[in-house]
Amino acid sequence: MPFRLDDRGVYRCEEWEPIGWLEHGFGTRLSEGWLPEGESADLKQIHSDLIVRADGPASRFCEGDALITDRQGLWVRIRTADCLPVLFVDERRRAVAAVHCGWRGVRLGLAAATVRRMGEEFGSAAGDLLAAIGPGIGECCFEVGPEVAMESRAVFPERADLDRKTTLDLEEALLRQLEQAGVARAGVSRAGLCTRCDAGLFHSFRRDRELAGRMESGIRVRR
Ligand SMILES: [Zn+2]
Repeated sequence: MPFRLDDRGVYRCEEWEPIGWLEHGFGTRLSEGWLPEGESADLKQIHSDLIVRADGPASRFCEGDALITDRQGLWVRIRTADCLPVLFVDERRRAVAAVHCGWRGVRLGLAAATVRRMGEEFGSAAGDLLAAIGPGIGECCFEVGPEVAMESRAVFPERADLDRKTTLDLEEALLRQLEQAGVARAGVSRAGLCTRCDAGLFHSFRRDRELAGRMESGIRVRR
């Protein structure tokens, strides 16, 4: 697995470690408060496909589910508990993104929209982007009814069981959407960790409902 848990309880993508100007991580329930409050931007997350370009901490009052920036020193952060956290890096343009993506985000094509928006804002070429998909609910635990499953027909055209109660693999869905948006498969790292299965490490909304906390993931271009 290309992800490693550090001594703060934060998962990092090992393939990104050689990028000297980059800092990133996927928080767990062990790492509360690991991201600094000061120089950071976050959003009021609403399971949308709204993407916000962050140029300073003020964006935390905006609604949306993806933050992009090329501002040095500024963390962009998102919170999850089963939804998948996705981080992006453009090594060439020195730009980053943090995305909160559950099945609604998949349905809306949020990851692909983020790729396009990075192109518009920073001149990022999709083929240059690296993406890392952090811990989220796995196919083992993401049971859905037909009304949800049918919404993912475009992503899983080969499946004949979407008209009944079944399970969905959001990580695989994201991988396919990223590939379709032009991101190289080899450029996508996947944690493959299920938040609902590991109560010791992860918060999970499906498991703990209203009692579930949130885990923070973030990324920034170092100053
Ligand atoms: Zn599971």
